[in-house]
Amino acid sequence: MNSQYLNGLYQELENRYPEQKEYLQAVREVFSSIDPVLEKHPEYEKANIVGRMIEPERIVIFRVPWTDDNGSVQVNRGYRVQFNSAIGPYKGGLRFRENVNLSILKFLGFEQVFKNALTSLPMGGGKGGSDFDPKGRSDREVMAFCQSFMTELVKYIGPDSDVPAGDIGVGKREIGYLYGQYKRLTGEWNGSLTGKGLTYGGSLGRTQATGYGLCYFTEAYLKDNGMSFKDQNVVISGSGNVAIYAAEKAKQLGAKVIAMSDSDGYVYDPSGIDIETIKMIKEGKRDRIYKYADLVPAAEYHEGCKGIWTVPCDFAMPCATQNELDRDDAEALIKNGCKGVFEGANMPSTPEAISLIQSSGLLYSPGKASNAGGVAVSGLEMSQNAQHLNWTFEEVDCKLKEIMINIYKNSRDTAAEYGKEGDLVSGANIAGFVKVANAMLEQGVC
Ligand code: NDP
Repeated sequence: MNSQYLNGLYQELENRYPEQKEYLQAVREVFSSIDPVLEKHPEYEKANIVGRMIEPERIVIFRVPWTDDNGSVQVNRGYRVQFNSAIGPYKGGLRFRENVNLSILKFLGFEQVFKNALTSLPMGGGKGGSDFDPKGRSDREVMAFCQSFMTELVKYIGPDSDVPAGDIGVGKREIGYLYGQYKRLTGEWNGSLTGKGLTYGGSLGRTQATGYGLCYFTEAYLKDNGMSFKDQNVVISGSGNVAIYAAEKAKQLGAKVIAMSDSDGYVYDPSGIDIETIKMIKEGKRDRIYKYADLVPAAEYHEGCKGIWTVPCDFAMPCATQNELDRDDAEALIKNGCKGVFEGANMPSTPEAISLIQSSGLLYSPGKASNAGGVAVSGLEMSQNAQHLNWTFEEVDCKLKEIMINIYKNSRDTAAEYGKEGDLVSGANIAGFVKVANAMLEQGVC
């Protein structure tokens, strides 16, 4: 980050929000890429585009009271960060997890702005959620929470203004309860949430989209570098929505997925993880991953999720959460011969890990680009809802593949255009930034 303008903005941001570590990290990452763009386009600085980009357009924080199964009244905090609507309605998921706070939601919302721009669909960026964790809660408790959460959120969303979706802790069940309450309060059926069930306006292929999209992106990237998934050992962290479908597609493309995790530990299966068993445990029973080793005798369970990065592999796909892969983990991967790290989660690698991975010559794709398949298919779900149509799985999957290959090529070519050949972090940041910056410039000071 050489530009005085960027340094000044960053200092101000750090002074204003010193406690927002994740948000500052996400901003620093983008700033470290956009020096050459600001040099080439002085009009961005003149209109203070970046200063406007780092301040969300609106943040809503609200109380979420609900009653648990013991009859006690619980209170959680609900949030919606409407970050940037320059290129379309705010779009981005809801995260329900104990550690959710404004720093995490601002980092996610900020990244979402650029990611959504990369998809080439007309979607702005936003993110929201709550410090409520559905894990261990009964269906009735989750429904009570979701209904209370939506009773407030409904005032701020709509099919042409803000369209939330799922994220960690928010899957089909939660979206169903949220949508039911939205409909009850507004009396309208419309596409104001995505990730909906297939019986009420969901899109075929949305469940698989982020994981499959990650593999389509990676496949194109590997091909460009004379490699493929075929016969490669892959380690995938997490065992939620993104991880499961990344594992499924990697396997279809000829890879062997040998380890997966949850926040307690990881399973290693040298003969290749059986994805259907993982689905049955995690999606069907909402159980813990150690159960896999009980069901598959060849597999081993290890306490502690970090250990997964010590499993020797050809490719690593972090698909769990932010900052889950640090410098030590990167060192272990490199020592064991890993050839590429492809991110499914948002900001899963720390800055120190990224610089080691890149400087050691591994292939590396930032989540902002390689996990954009989820929001891309959410965009396709919005289009289907607006047209009152349902597309086939094949149609959606084909569009997803095309979008992911285009995101890869756009990131690759933009990196080369700005003298950063092979650096997809810079390529994705610059391509996303330029699109949003131009839209903001044309719309005047707002
Ligand atoms: P899920 O809630 O479906 O799954 C999250 C998984 O990660 C769970 O297996 C969870 O385990 C595990 N996990 C959470 N924290 C840790 C940790 N510290 N170490 C290891 N494992 C952990 O979420 P998603 O799969 O939807 O999201 C995963 C990531 O992908 C997030 O970063 C999300 O923002 C990102 N993403 C998701 C998209 C989507 O379409 N769903 C789109 C784009 C990005 P446990 O069961 O123990 O909680």
